[in-house]
Amino acid sequence: MTAAADSPDAYDLAIIGGGVNGCGIARDAAGRGARVVLFEQGDLAGATSSASTKLIHGGLRYLEHGSFRLVREALVEREILWGMAPHIVRPLRFVLPHTPGRRPAWLLRLGLFLYDHLGGRRHLPPTRSLNLARDPAGAPLRDGPSRAFAYSDCWVDDARLVVLNAVDAAERGAAIRTRTKVVQARRSEDLWTVATRAADGAIGHVRARALVNAAGPWVADVSSRITGRNAAAGIRLVQGSHIVVPALFTHDQSYLFQNRDGRIVFAIPYEGAFTLIGTTDRDYVGDPAAVRAGPEEVAYLCAAASEHFRAPVRARDVVWSFSGVRPLHDDGAGAAQAATRDYVLDLDAPDGLAPLLSIFGGKITTYRRLAEHALARLAPHLPCLN
Ligand SMILES: Cc1cc2nc3c(=O)[nH]c(=O)nc-3n(C[C@H](O)[C@H](O)[C@H](O)COP(=O)(O)OP(=O)(O)OC[C@H]3O[C@@H](n4cnc5c(N)ncnc54)[C@H](O)[C@@H]3O)c2cc1C
Repeated sequence: MTAAADSPDAYDLAIIGGGVNGCGIARDAAGRGARVVLFEQGDLAGATSSASTKLIHGGLRYLEHGSFRLVREALVEREILWGMAPHIVRPLRFVLPHTPGRRPAWLLRLGLFLYDHLGGRRHLPPTRSLNLARDPAGAPLRDGPSRAFAYSDCWVDDARLVVLNAVDAAERGAAIRTRTKVVQARRSEDLWTVATRAADGAIGHVRARALVNAAGPWVADVSSRITGRNAAAGIRLVQGSHIVVPALFTHDQSYLFQNRDGRIVFAIPYEGAFTLIGTTDRDYVGDPAAVRAGPEEVAYLCAAASEHFRAPVRARDVVWSFSGVRPLHDDGAGAAQAATRDYVLDLDAPDGLAPLLSIFGGKITTYRRLAEHALARLAPHLPCLN
């Protein structure tokens, strides 16, 4: 994508990162009349924002961790995003079998009651109980649990959501520069000077009154190495992988299974002929660009699916796998799956100096609200955002 605006003397806002958060912020800021430039080192949605489970969801299991603020915000966003982009967001029903020896039925029922009533559900159908011995959703499953709950969330084409935000930002005047890496950003008084290197090696410079670091898994690296500022918040990189296998069932509902280890795994209809199974959760060290689904993760997902489906899922059935790194705010939680999915906005704005806002965590589902919060933090320093 090329620049949609002539280069002004100084932009109001420069954004590092063309994932869902960077593009969401670009769209919102450009819509308010700010002069915006966004740099993406690769392609839009080239990193975490195309490697998600593709759910616009409240996150049922985050209730177990007491993340009521996040779950409520995410639940409300479901119908807003569905209304905004019904061509890439659609309702999806989930079947949650009650497996004896795992979470008790009363706990599932309580969680789903909260899920239905925390807010924002007007058109999505509510939870209901299923008898898997009679319901078609029971047919592809092994004999075992006869009881299940069916509840609502939404599905999204994650990469297209990002691109559509970038296109809309560009139509509102933002300059969206893909394949352009930010290599340095230096602050002098009330301006940032941002140095970039394009794919052909060309070096460029722009100036901006405020800088947003929405570099996802690279956020800490960009903070320390590129801006020379150490953000107060910490990042925890958690890898999540998915496998794609030939369709395990023919109906259009999805499953949420409880595993022996307490984790949950989704099985979702995918691209007509396939089933998407995910995800894993494990701490990641290394270059986020090099993340791949490892053999032990593939084995874990195959075993998890085979425990529930009649047809065994073997590593040789896997036609594709993909992996991403969740850029989570490090809240000191023990297990990777317990680390908060909520976001933290870290503002570095010493008196009179140009602000730097760094984004930690977040979900595809909450990108729009994250953008609103981000601009609310910047608005006192950037009156054009009001
Ligand atoms: C396995 C998995 C499943 C998930 N499932 C869901 C789900 O179902 N629903 C949901 O709501 N959320 C889900 N998420 C979370 C969601 O995908 C992420 O929170 C979100 O995509 C993060 O977006 P981002 O814009 O912060 O980061 P990214 O999408 O990673 O974008 C950051 C961008 O910054 C760029 N960048 C970095 N450094 C530079 C630089 N120096 N110069 C220029 N560009 C740079 C990178 O190339 C990258 O494109 C999932 C995440 C994972 C990993």
